[in-house]
Amino acid sequence: MSMYIDPHIHLVSRTTDDYEAMQKAGIVATIEPAFWLGQPRTEVGSFKDYFSTLVGWERFRASQFGIVHYCTMGLNSKEANNIALAEQVMELLPLYVGKEGVVAIGEIGYDDQTEAEDRFYREQLELAKEVDLPVLIHTPHRDKKKGTYRSMDVAEEHGMNPGWIIVDHNNEETVKEVLDRGYWAGFTIYPHTKMGSERMVEIVKQYGPERIIVNSAADWGISDPLAVPKTADLMRKMGIPEEHVQMVTYRNALTAFSLSGQMDENDWLQAPPIDQTKKMSGNSVLRGGQVPRVEGPADRVEN
Ligand SMILES: [Zn+2]
Repeated sequence: MSMYIDPHIHLVSRTTDDYEAMQKAGIVATIEPAFWLGQPRTEVGSFKDYFSTLVGWERFRASQFGIVHYCTMGLNSKEANNIALAEQVMELLPLYVGKEGVVAIGEIGYDDQTEAEDRFYREQLELAKEVDLPVLIHTPHRDKKKGTYRSMDVAEEHGMNPGWIIVDHNNEETVKEVLDRGYWAGFTIYPHTKMGSERMVEIVKQYGPERIIVNSAADWGISDPLAVPKTADLMRKMGIPEEHVQMVTYRNALTAFSLSGQMDENDWLQAPPIDQTKKMSGNSVLRGGQVPRVEGPADRVEN
């Protein structure tokens, strides 16, 4: 079966059914970018606990369904506009960027393209340089072209290497410039909207598979945690060569995010078998009386 990576998915908002379906569809690894939560946080402690969840409980929960979980750390652009709070988050971030499984600084960039967003985007580019991590850029949904170009201009002003930056949420309007300037180009497949699987097929046909990365960005809104394998299937059906399909749904994400030194194919190729009898700090994914899923060698010993 083909292996997939979903390099942008907000798993804290998804169910265990999603995890089971993702694993069944061939998703072996996921990257969860730190983002906002649908409403603004009011205390720095909320960020602290959220960051701890990304490297802690959620990573464990994914492992209980046979999926390797990584994350990115950052202050998102929306919440950068609460300057007093943003300053506190910036003090907190250095404590988390070096944790196991943190593969980039992100998602950072512009939302409304305000002065505050610009300030904290720049500060986080400097942080990425300091700690030698790639950067995941969230491009704005309004004024996308201008915001995308500006994100790259500012990154270059700070001496960043485009080969270490994944510019996400591209569309037909931005892809050429992003690729021409040497960046990785992420595409989010939103169900029933602007950027669907069909359009993704056309983009890969037109631009080829180099430095193109497909993701679901699934979160608490209407989104599809199976967008990556579904798009891969459609690409095959539309005649895109298998090697190209694998590049945009697996290999390119691995190449880009493994620059962090925190992501390696062996993390899933040699992962321990699923064992839902495991606990993290005494907590399990099981609820009263459920039969744990235990796979692999442990299974064979019992038989
Ligand atoms: Zn996101």
